[in-house]
Amino acid sequence: MNLVFLGPAGSGKGTQAKKLEEEFGVTQISTGDLLREAVRQGTELGKQAAPLMEAGKLVPDELVIGIIAERLGAGGFGAGGILLDGFPRTLPQAEALDGALAHHGIRLDKVISLEVPEDVLVDRVTGRRSCPRCGRVYHVRSNPPAQEGVCDVDGTPLIQRDDDTAEKLEQRLQVFRTEIPLVKDHYRGRGLLAEIDGLGSPDEVYARIREAVE
Ligand code: AMP
Repeated sequence: MNLVFLGPAGSGKGTQAKKLEEEFGVTQISTGDLLREAVRQGTELGKQAAPLMEAGKLVPDELVIGIIAERLGAGGFGAGGILLDGFPRTLPQAEALDGALAHHGIRLDKVISLEVPEDVLVDRVTGRRSCPRCGRVYHVRSNPPAQEGVCDVDGTPLIQRDDDTAEKLEQRLQVFRTEIPLVKDHYRGRGLLAEIDGLGSPDEVYARIREAVE
């Protein structure tokens, strides 16, 4: 099963991706995670991306397309397929992805768009904490770890991302509002788009996603 997840910051992409990964063995590929890793390692790409990410702006298409092409080329996805999280975010990225998937003989099964009202996103994003090692995402009130501040999976101290503040979120949402409708139209026209209500508990949302992909 090969999926794309669309949705603004706080829509639940990362949380739902982890659930699909556990149940179906799909490999999550998150451009945000790959970029944050490049920043941590201080690579050339990381140096270019860091100030843009910090400001909640998009990293240029050619850079993100480059890391996705590299990741798809590296393979090792197993039989479960792939789940793209946070990519594509612009129409040129969607078009480039079509080419890259065709090149690797990968057929897209569904594009899941998680729909969440903006006031809910603010609460989710400002309360979000994540594990820098495994990427698992928590919320201080609605989805806390068993032990405060520590990842359930690997015991790593949880962090709050630099861009998970109300001001940075507003900037990220502005970008999202202009670009994502074009990406959705691209996939709607090909009958691949499933718009999923992203409100409710992670399990409730997951049940809707399962229904859409099965
Ligand atoms: P995310 O973890 O998906 O919220 O991404 C964090 C940040 O990484 C975004 O605010 C962008 O600065 C950058 N980023 C991630 N994915 C993309 C993409 N597909 N295109 C451009 N920038 C991206």
